Amino acid sequence: MNILEELEKGDIPNNKEIYESFLVGNKKVQDYKKICCSVSGGSDSDLMIDLFMRLDEEKKVTFVFFNTGLEYQATKEHLKYLEDKYDIEIVVINAKKPIPITCREYGQPFISKQVSEWIERLQRHNFKWEDKSFEELYEEYPKCKAALRWWCNEWGEDSKFNISYNKGLKEFMIINPPEFKISPKCCKYAKKDIIHDFIEENDFDLNCYGVRKAEGGARSAAYKNCFTNNAVNEDTDEYRPIFWYKDSTKKAYEQHFNIKHSKCYTEYGLKRTGCAGCPFNQDFEEELKIIDQYEPKLFKAVNNIFKDSYEYTRAYRAFVKENFKNVNKEIDGQMSIDDYIAV
Ligand code: SF4
Repeated sequence: MNILEELEKGDIPNNKEIYESFLVGNKKVQDYKKICCSVSGGSDSDLMIDLFMRLDEEKKVTFVFFNTGLEYQATKEHLKYLEDKYDIEIVVINAKKPIPITCREYGQPFISKQVSEWIERLQRHNFKWEDKSFEELYEEYPKCKAALRWWCNEWGEDSKFNISYNKGLKEFMIINPPEFKISPKCCKYAKKDIIHDFIEENDFDLNCYGVRKAEGGARSAAYKNCFTNNAVNEDTDEYRPIFWYKDSTKKAYEQHFNIKHSKCYTEYGLKRTGCAGCPFNQDFEEELKIIDQYEPKLFKAVNNIFKDSYEYTRAYRAFVKENFKNVNKEIDGQMSIDDYIAV
């Protein structure tokens, strides 16, 4: 029975978002020739695979996992489970440059992609982390205008591009200039570039991934709806099949179709998966405890790779707690690790 017959028979949960995702997803599968579906091993991607497996009768969809090298063993086991369950192959593509090497060569991620980007630019120009006006600094460092605007809060009042968006960060950095290199480049070499290259090299005309509007954060805020024309290049569009699923929609889908998620959720108690121990995760301390308990080898690895960033973040958080009252989540990152899963 195909999905339209299932819909007519009422075999799909009585839920608007699920119903519409099947209708729109079915249309996409009909309209496109070669479809790439990025699988992360996370709970949203579980739903997306299941949805496609109910729609893709002509086997147009290629499932692909971009292996950053900092993956949980539980994620790898779950991918194997998905392959067996649906009788599919999940193509594994490795990072262009392993994260430990990128972190050593370019720097470690700190707080968020945007903050790391600004700091990297300033470090490249041997910035001295001085408390001077924008005009003075721009004369001294004429090649990093945008990053200086961040440092001097020149992006406009309350802009998230200002350093003041991260409470106390400027004050902290003036007193404690970073003595290690900071950079968001590991995302570029472990995710962004390889996804882009894989799509171009294989002539996909549709790229799909499991972002949901309800998940919040910068990743979902980057999109207004479930579809983007020419998003990757002029021949490749993007589609986010479960974009409109709320948490309750997810539950309804999981129950109706008996979806089993990775041990990362069911045993470890993680709320999200992605690169293990990424310093962009605002709850990285909690995650580290879990990694230590369940995957001790990985714990050792992430503590080597991100050591300086963890220590700097801890020092920054302690500084804010000591010097600023009524601050809680504001001191944390603007983006979570999942903001980088599908770029
Ligand atoms: S999610 Fe974090 S650890 Fe993974 S590639 Fe991006 S910045 Fe690096």
